[in-house]
Amino acid sequence: MQKNEILRIYGTDYKDMTKRLLDEAELYTHITPGARIGIKPNLVAPVPADFGATTHPEVVAGIIEHLKEHGFTDIRIIEGSWVGDKTEDSFEYCGYNALKEKYGITLVDTQKEKSYSVPHGDISVNICNCVRDVDFMINVPVLKGHCQTNITCALKNMKGLIPNSEKRRFHSMGLHKPIAILNSAIKQDFIVVDHICGDLVSEGGGNPYYSNCVMAGLDPVLIDSYLCKLMGYTLDDVPYIKLAAEAGVGCSDLSTLSMRTIDGDGTEKEEILPRTHSLFKLKDKAEDVDTCSACYESLMEALSRLEEEGILDNLTEKICIGQGYRGKTGEFGIGNCTRLFKHFVPGCPPDSDAIYEGIKAYVNK
Ligand code: SF4
Repeated sequence: MQKNEILRIYGTDYKDMTKRLLDEAELYTHITPGARIGIKPNLVAPVPADFGATTHPEVVAGIIEHLKEHGFTDIRIIEGSWVGDKTEDSFEYCGYNALKEKYGITLVDTQKEKSYSVPHGDISVNICNCVRDVDFMINVPVLKGHCQTNITCALKNMKGLIPNSEKRRFHSMGLHKPIAILNSAIKQDFIVVDHICGDLVSEGGGNPYYSNCVMAGLDPVLIDSYLCKLMGYTLDDVPYIKLAAEAGVGCSDLSTLSMRTIDGDGTEKEEILPRTHSLFKLKDKAEDVDTCSACYESLMEALSRLEEEGILDNLTEKICIGQGYRGKTGEFGIGNCTRLFKHFVPGCPPDSDAIYEGIKAYVNK
């Protein structure tokens, strides 16, 4: 497989189609014999894959079987859920403890790991130790929408390999630049995109949109650039992709892309994903300054419910949310960062029910 290629396969037998894809890509030829292999899924929260947020265990099973059939035995799954959820719960609920039992692999919870610092220009990033303990990294992201960065896939998935404190710091730095820097510091050697049923609106899932597709590639920038277009965004809408390209992580020029469908009829048909930019209306209700993902997702979920109930239009003021409001005063805020506000919904992060009730009470006061 060449760096400018993306291979894809469609079907519903997720494990077998993943193996077929990896055989075609000859994944094993890219790995040095005896290498320690890290597989990085997306287990953002303890929710099953058909919810649209997490990597299907069947896809990871297909990767493991491909590796084992070619003599690789040192395989570990490395992941840390988002701030507010425990990775150990995600391993259980998302079917990864079962993978461990079945295949005798290791699970590494990055929320429990120590980290090392990698300097980059005038800043540095802290990365969990498990990253330098692997020789070959297979990234297995889910293509999803994201309330702050519009899309999340290969590049942003590396965020599960930093400590929770660093995730908060990334949000305080505006996400895009630190995500690009993180990808300069962590090399992903092979990417398998779970494009089976990602939620096109929310990183946390809940609205799965079925494509029944798995893709493979070598360049995370090229993959994200392609998926950005597929979701109806331009590269200007997702600045971290361009920043990663400028940092030398990969190529964002889609004119170089060679796309091939395995078991297709030889013609490449462009998939059309529904446009989901309705989130913009909800975003308009919030004044976000450096907000953690889980906090923002909860707010969007609560606003969506309020909109369905016709209550949202009664909210005339902007709601403040994010670390940028620490130590500041204001009218109405979400999360402990806004604890000095006249009204605020406590929690770090508060869940969507609490936010929903808090906004409803505020609107009806
Ligand atoms: S309250 Fe502040 S620190 Fe806590 S999750 Fe929300 S934005 Fe992040």
